[in-house]
Amino acid sequence: MEQKNEMTIVFDSRSCNEGFVRVAVAAFCTQLNPTLEEVADIKTAVSEAITNSIIHGYESQVKKIRIDCCIRGRTIYVTVKDEGKGIADVKKAMEPMFTTCPELERSGMGFAFMEAFMDKIQVESQVGKGTVVYMEKTIGNHGSAFA
Ligand code: ATP
Ligand code: MG
Repeated sequence: MEQKNEMTIVFDSRSCNEGFVRVAVAAFCTQLNPTLEEVADIKTAVSEAITNSIIHGYESQVKKIRIDCCIRGRTIYVTVKDEGKGIADVKKAMEPMFTTCPELERSGMGFAFMEAFMDKIQVESQVGKGTVVYMEKTIGNHGSAFA
C-alpha cells in the first residue's frame, strides 16, 4: 500500500494565526518537491479557507479551527474544519463574486481561488454546526526524477 504522511494543527481562530498555519502547510508539502508556484497556490487556498472560518464561520469569535493535511503519493489533501455558523446554500456560496459581506469589502472570490489553485475542492456545511472544506492538489514532476 502507498505510504501516507499526515499532520494536523488545531488553532485559535485569530487572524494572526492564519500566516503561520499557511506556512506550516507549505513547509509540510515541500517533501513533494513542489515548484514555488505550486507552494504559492497551496498557501493561497489554505489562507482563503482559514480566513473564511475566522470571518464567516466564527464571525471573529475565538474558537478552534482544525486543519488536517495528508500526503499520499504525489498528492496533498488538506481539510479545513470549523464548528461555526455554517453555510445555508453551499452551491451559491461557491459562485464567483458571491459574498454575504459586501460591506466588509469582501469580493466573494475565496472559493473561486481555492477552485482555481487546487485540483479539487469539496465543501460540506450544516447551518449551526460548521463547515468542512476538502481540497487536494497533485504535485508535478518538473524534471527531478531522483527527488
Ligand atoms: P473574499 O474571500 O473574496 O474575501 P468572501 O469570503 O465573502 O470574500 P468566499 O470566500 O468565496 O467569499 O465565500 C463566499 C461566502 O460563503 C461568504 O461570503 C460566506 O457567506 C460563506 N462562507 C464561506 N466560508 C464559510 C464558513 N467557513 N462558514 C460560514 N460561511 C462561510
Ligand atoms: Mg473568503
